[in-house]
Amino acid sequence: MLSPYFTEEHELIRAQLRRFVEEEVQPHAKAWEVAGMVPREVLRRMGELGFLGMRYPAEYGGSDMDARASVILAEECGRSTFGGFAITVLVHTDMASPHLARFGSKAQKDRYFGPVIRGEKICAVAVTEPDAGSDVAGLRTRAVKKGNEWVLNGAKMFITNGVHADLYCVAAKTDPDVKGSRGITMFLVEKGAPGFRVGRALDKMGWRSSDTAELVFEDCRLPADAVLGEENRGFYAIMQNFQNERLVIGAMAAAESQKMLQLTHGYVMDRKAFGGSLWDKQAIRQRLSMLAARTAAAQQLVHHTAWLDAQGLDCVAQVSMVKALCGELVNEVGYACQQFHGGFGYITDSAIERMVRDARVQSIGGGASEVMLEEVAKRMGQALQD
Ligand SMILES: Cc1cc2nc3c(=O)[nH]c(=O)nc-3n(C[C@H](O)[C@H](O)[C@H](O)COP(=O)(O)OP(=O)(O)OC[C@H]3O[C@@H](n4cnc5c(N)ncnc54)[C@H](O)[C@@H]3O)c2cc1C
Repeated sequence: MLSPYFTEEHELIRAQLRRFVEEEVQPHAKAWEVAGMVPREVLRRMGELGFLGMRYPAEYGGSDMDARASVILAEECGRSTFGGFAITVLVHTDMASPHLARFGSKAQKDRYFGPVIRGEKICAVAVTEPDAGSDVAGLRTRAVKKGNEWVLNGAKMFITNGVHADLYCVAAKTDPDVKGSRGITMFLVEKGAPGFRVGRALDKMGWRSSDTAELVFEDCRLPADAVLGEENRGFYAIMQNFQNERLVIGAMAAAESQKMLQLTHGYVMDRKAFGGSLWDKQAIRQRLSMLAARTAAAQQLVHHTAWLDAQGLDCVAQVSMVKALCGELVNEVGYACQQFHGGFGYITDSAIERMVRDARVQSIGGGASEVMLEEVAKRMGQALQD
């Protein structure tokens, strides 16, 4: 769709990404679903093509772009029809590594940025725990300073890229005597740190080519310079990073909605029943038309919010609306599209069946819809401004 929010450069990147997805993702991604992971060569290839560093400084090999580049990446990955592939990439580029970009010291950036942008070191972000998800302030993983080291104890849950990542941005409580939101610190933990291990890989309903893990820290020793950002200010770092994460998940969900509608439009035009095509049935075409209208509206909100962010304007209300709206919409669109595919939509070989399974988590992960609506409610003035 032509859009005033995007430049010629953006459209060029979109075209490159689309070609990459068609040629190097779609032909292989069913095998990745079975394997439960996206091969590392694919991420390295994306690094080579410049897709992993679009938001990062040119001095480290990035291209210094703004949130609109992340939205394009999320949309094109989402349109692949393989949500597991999309989330593997987007956690690396837009949910985990932004912690390094925003809060990393010069030494940390010098050490890690190059390999992260080239796809040689894959990132994960570990905030959620078995007993604390939506309520980030309630996390219990504890980090204690002992001499020149930090010692971490605790567990993390549902961590995307958790099994195969090399670099983890981990939240831990460093001051248990203050309110949770004030006593949390982020740490950079490398795979292989003593006392850190993957507890188990988690099997899931969807996103099957994305690896998800439980992580365990047992007297995990980290050097003093593993602190990422300011001590005891981790909660604010997490909240700041959530803005990009939620915008990107929303962009991915809206693009998936559009893709499911495209697939379904093609299907019902061809499928014959009762003397005509399914498209001839007014009930079907009107339902798809309304969902197309709502998807187009959601995409415009995504693009506008990315533009607001690119101008440096406060858009927490818009980001929260994007996450809530798109996370619910992709499920509603998926339900209708699967219905109109009839029995074929229930067969595991069909893209719709996979996309419906992949959609389910999008109203839960990265901020459940209810939590997002509370964020909107707190900013109703901004949400409703003229
Ligand atoms: C596949 C997958 C990948 C993930 N990847 C990561 C990752 O890489 N890193 C990471 O840190 N986390 C990750 N998560 C965790 C994810 O962000 C959390 O699952 C999510 O934030 C919800 O937390 P929870 O599961 O603990 O649910 P809870 O917080 O226990 O909430 C359960 C449900 O209660 C409802 N609810 C919660 N709060 C409210 C409220 N205030 N008002 C009304 N209703 C409410 C919502 O419907 C919510 O779904 C992932 C999760 C999944 C499933």
